[in-house]
Amino acid sequence: MSSFPEVHASKHAQRTLQPLTELTDKMKPSHSTKPLIKLSMGDPTADGNLVAPQILVDEMVDIVKSKDFNGYPPVAGFNDARQVVAEYWKKFCGTPGRKDQIHWRNVLLTSGGSHAIMLAISALCNEGDNLLVGAPAFPHYKTVCDSYGVECRYFPLDAARNWEADLDAAAKLVDSKTRGVLFVNPSNPCGSNYSRAHVGEIIEFCEKHHLPLISDEIYAELVFKDEVFTSIADFDTDVPRVVLGGSAKHAVTPGWRIGWLILVDRKEVATAWMKGMDRLAQLLTGSNSIGQMSLVRALTKIPQDHVDSVIAQLEEGAKVYNRLLKHDIGLSFDAPRASMFIMLKVDFNYFKDIATDMDFYEKLLDEENVQVLPGEIFGVHGFVRATTSRPARIVNEAVDRIIEFCERHKK
Ligand SMILES: *Cc1c(COP(=O)(O)O)cnc(C)c1O
Repeated sequence: MSSFPEVHASKHAQRTLQPLTELTDKMKPSHSTKPLIKLSMGDPTADGNLVAPQILVDEMVDIVKSKDFNGYPPVAGFNDARQVVAEYWKKFCGTPGRKDQIHWRNVLLTSGGSHAIMLAISALCNEGDNLLVGAPAFPHYKTVCDSYGVECRYFPLDAARNWEADLDAAAKLVDSKTRGVLFVNPSNPCGSNYSRAHVGEIIEFCEKHHLPLISDEIYAELVFKDEVFTSIADFDTDVPRVVLGGSAKHAVTPGWRIGWLILVDRKEVATAWMKGMDRLAQLLTGSNSIGQMSLVRALTKIPQDHVDSVIAQLEEGAKVYNRLLKHDIGLSFDAPRASMFIMLKVDFNYFKDIATDMDFYEKLLDEENVQVLPGEIFGVHGFVRATTSRPARIVNEAVDRIIEFCERHKK
């Protein structure tokens, strides 16, 4: 018998929860004999219908073969990489004056967008502080907040108005411990894309309450036909703003772990925040050199045809869900305008034996072997999230099963 005492995990580790893993771990085997269809998936590479642009792949291979970039990059990233990200982001800033607000020294290369989220939050908030986050929210925001002892304080987004922020409700949540506002546009999980007017309203809110803004814009390229994306970088305001992005979605390379953050800070009031993010980036000694150099060579050269083809497939997937609306089955939604997801609103009055998102999720999985994600993971109730990035024939099969499922549970 060993007398070695048990080793405990730190509080920091114990309060770092992974909602998706927990849900999957709890998953009971389905009673259905039908093959599993995951509409829960967030990985665009899963089916092979969406692929990385060839130029990016070729450049990465070339960079590896050259052996020229096997050393440590600077913690903030190679200057070349920071410059190329700064140049690239200017495409989302309409007028010349606004383009000048983006300085490459305020760009930091990260290990994926998730790392950028972690740096932006942890360099801004102390334990006990709170961050205002629009819900439904990408689950990683709460995971990071919980991990650092920061309160992820949700304010509602309105499903009936293209998921716009209810800023009156948000105003009531501001207190002396509020350190900033975080939102995602275009949205995972909502599939929304905000108008310039609404992004302007969010910035005015931050001006009024003196709150810095973090905007996750990783889906900037993936807005549907006739939609226009508006970046928070494209405004004349003194509000210090951090824009988050990466290669995971439009360049279909989530596994490469390439992301970035850009501080836009016209009045230079947030240099300490930038320095803080740079300090915290040292914990990983920066992000990988090969990925950074791939951006340098390819980021601004990804053909529009590539991006258009990704968008076309996402729109095709999204359109399949319209079939749900042709049946009276207790499900409704606004057509998605961007990103890879759709939030389905569940009307519990329709069902005889489904009263929560979790019920809907568990029963659908058990009876039809279709996996969606319950709203509670995103900080809301009465909704489930489904993916639009899977091939249309798979979504079609899933939609058939969802229709049968709902009809079977009708009151
Ligand atoms: C996918 C995603 C990210 C970042 O993902 P990484 O794989 O870490 O680059 C960030 N925000 C949202 C909303 C996402 O959907």
